Amino acid sequence: MKLHIQTLFIAIGLGIKRNWHIFLAIILGVFLGNYFHENPGTWVPFLKILNIVGQAFIRIIQMVVIPLVCSAIVVGISSIGDSKQIGKFGKKMILYYGIITVLAVVIGACLVLAIKPGIGVQEFISQSAAIEIQNQVNNVIAEQKGQIGALFLNMIPQNPLESLAKGEMIPIIFFALIFSMALSKVGEINRPIVSFFESVFAATMKITDWIMIFAAPGIFALTTVSVSSFGLSIFSTISKFFAVVFIGFCIQFFIVYPLMLKLFSKVPVGTFYTAIIEALLVAFGTASSSATLPLTIACCEKRGISHKVCSFVLPLGATLNMDGTALFQTVAVIFLTQAYGITLEPIQIIQIMVLALISSSTCAGIPGAGLITIALVLNGLGLTPQQLVEGFSFLFAIDRVVDMIRTTVNVASDATVAAIIADNENEIDYDLLNNTEEYKEII
Ligand code: ASP
Repeated sequence: MKLHIQTLFIAIGLGIKRNWHIFLAIILGVFLGNYFHENPGTWVPFLKILNIVGQAFIRIIQMVVIPLVCSAIVVGISSIGDSKQIGKFGKKMILYYGIITVLAVVIGACLVLAIKPGIGVQEFISQSAAIEIQNQVNNVIAEQKGQIGALFLNMIPQNPLESLAKGEMIPIIFFALIFSMALSKVGEINRPIVSFFESVFAATMKITDWIMIFAAPGIFALTTVSVSSFGLSIFSTISKFFAVVFIGFCIQFFIVYPLMLKLFSKVPVGTFYTAIIEALLVAFGTASSSATLPLTIACCEKRGISHKVCSFVLPLGATLNMDGTALFQTVAVIFLTQAYGITLEPIQIIQIMVLALISSSTCAGIPGAGLITIALVLNGLGLTPQQLVEGFSFLFAIDRVVDMIRTTVNVASDATVAAIIADNENEIDYDLLNNTEEYKEII
């Protein structure tokens, strides 16, 4: 954290680290949100204001995502230059993201099959929000039907400017990657464009730094509003389902990533987690990997992971690598089949896992996206619309809190893979990573 911001906090009597502000904001938000939930009708105007504050916080981060992703990719790839190195980064990225996501679905499937949280919960499957959800699910299913080919075609933008205007991340990244590779091949003539994007990158990182001054109130507002809608008592209703998902996330976070860091790199786990804590807290508060991306890049670069690696691995990870989502989708679908008393053959379990792998990586890094793309998995299983809808309304009721945690897991795995690749490719400054007091100025 920059010295002047720390000085400012000390000056206003809050001389504690920003991470702690955010952490306290989350705790306070949970308690206050629960109070509002238990006393409906009280403090309504205050909740409305909090809602505006929270939405403003998310919007202002989202505002910098597209310029940041474009500039990070252009500056990063054109600085790599050598297409062999890009290929090496790409292969490693697919390998590590692949391992992490396959492990996630296997862990999810083993846990849900062993603990069987779906047995005996049929009574909780409510049909209340059925119609609204039915429309939503029908639309998604209609869109997805026979569309695996179209899914790939849609990655290629017909008009990059249109994709930019619509904020379509995958086509934007696709164009930016090809454009930057071409730039790196045209020699010195690329200087004006690369310098332009260097300035855009520097400015967006500066804005991110400013935004983080408001992280604590923003995340406090978001947490209070979301907890006020479901209340803490929801945990007792769905405790078994929640426990399975939560144990799965903990295994990923506390066992799988540390093991991968140990096996494939020499990055110290504790130091690394401390370095990215700010991004993790923002991921929890916003439930959006894309909105957290500026922070993920800032945390990694400030603590020594090279710009080359961050600009390539993190934007792609924020859109394609959703291991927390894949784990959640596997657990949720098998849970629903248990609740409906459907017996699954081993081949169907494998089918669910493969579909969860695909559907999680087609899912945007925005709140709730993982629950919508779950339709692909459920539909692949041949569940009837009625069954889908009943189960969906149940999952919708509890999704926000699960989303907050799975997004934290998604962001942690993006950063973990970036750290491993940076280590493998000698693209990490260990002095900076190990020195908690001294952050690198990336601007
Ligand atoms: N909210 C998640 C993310 O942004 C995606 C999901 O809904 O699973 O990473």
